[in-house]
Amino acid sequence: HVTTKPPPEPSPLRKAKFFQANMRILVTGGAGFIGSHLVDKLMENEKNEVIVVDNYFTGSKDNLSQWIGHPRFELIRHDVTEPLLIEVDQIYHLACPASPIFYKYNPVKTIKTNVIGTLNMLGLAKRVGARILLTSTSEVYGDPLVHPQDETYWGNVNPIGVRSCYDEGKRVAETLMFDYHRQHGIEIRIARIFNTYGPRMNIDDGRVVSNFIAQAIRDEPLTVQLPGTQTRSFCYVSDMVNGLIRLMEGENTGPINIGNPGEFTMLELAETVKEMINPEVKIITVENTPDDPRQRKPDITKAKELLGWEPKVKLRDGLPLMEDDFRKRIGILRK
Ligand code: NAD
Ligand code: UDP
Ligand code: UDP
Repeated sequence: HVTTKPPPEPSPLRKAKFFQANMRILVTGGAGFIGSHLVDKLMENEKNEVIVVDNYFTGSKDNLSQWIGHPRFELIRHDVTEPLLIEVDQIYHLACPASPIFYKYNPVKTIKTNVIGTLNMLGLAKRVGARILLTSTSEVYGDPLVHPQDETYWGNVNPIGVRSCYDEGKRVAETLMFDYHRQHGIEIRIARIFNTYGPRMNIDDGRVVSNFIAQAIRDEPLTVQLPGTQTRSFCYVSDMVNGLIRLMEGENTGPINIGNPGEFTMLELAETVKEMINPEVKIITVENTPDDPRQRKPDITKAKELLGWEPKVKLRDGLPLMEDDFRKRIGILRK
């Protein structure tokens, strides 16, 4: 008669692998504004281990203080322009200053971060077989001649201007992502993020929503840069984070616009902040900087159809949440 041999005992290594069904996720730039909110959301899932890599150029450990010491969380001081050898399953690649003041401060470093930083993260993804998501930007559309902007539009970008280190840097980063995908079969995701706002933005970050809210709280005039008729579309950070996770978990490479189509002129934004936060405050006009895009509004048809995602928080609902956070940090309570 035949004796059936029992299956071999799995090796201790295999057993460890089986029980360790956790997803190990790297977030570059995770100490920054959007990154830290993304970390909060990823940490809600007990199957996730999160590793943040950041050089603290514009980010801060304070944004992650609730996770420091948590067994599923790790924080590494590291600059993505240097190679990084770790083992992960997914990479959310956000590392890059996003505010014009900061990305223009050291433009050569900005372009290195976008090009060499993205190359390194792609090399890492290739070595360990990880899926990688790049946070690109609506700035790849430049000063757009198509309105609203959909993903098929190639953009109108000045290659030699003061914003080019960021705009062209992100365009090269997108190119690298697609070349690694085509040449090496890397699983890629590209989000084109439109202006995002919310708690934890740097108070003196220089972006328009944070400037107006800080100015209104401090009783300083709201500085509308000329002509004031230029438009932007503002997405609340929780909506943005949900969109990024949907994109990472879904089957589409993108690029996909993630943003809120509600479009406002900068004068309208100033009036809204004044009305909601400090009706006494003055609104003044000041000089603008070169190459400021005149209009910007995402076409989010693709995000709706392919990701089942659309933003939920309206500007008038998001502003008070940001005001609460700014008041606490500035130390001026409501009158
Ligand atoms: P942020 O400046 O708050 O965060 C960027 C983070 O990256 C910071 O913590 C910073 O210290 C880190 N960083 C910068 N250079 C680095 C380097 N060389 N090595 C390691 N870390 C580095 O900006 P954010 O608003 O959170 O933006 C996050 C990402 O989203 C960026 O890639 C940005 O281009 C993109 N994005 C943001 C917006 C927006 O409106 N906030 C719009 C479009 C795209
Ligand atoms: N890289 C990294 N971590 C890794 C693997 C690669 O930072 O785990 C960097 C590597 O230093 C290189 C870049 O990613 O600068 C691109 O790597 P790739 O293997 O694609 O190219 P190569 O090293 O052959 O130029
Ligand atoms: N802006 C403004 N006042 C400020 C800061 C910015 O009117 O104090 C304008 C700026 O000219 C631009 C828009 O707000 O038209 C958005 O600028 P931001 O730097 O927030 O982001 P961008 O979309 O230009 O990257």
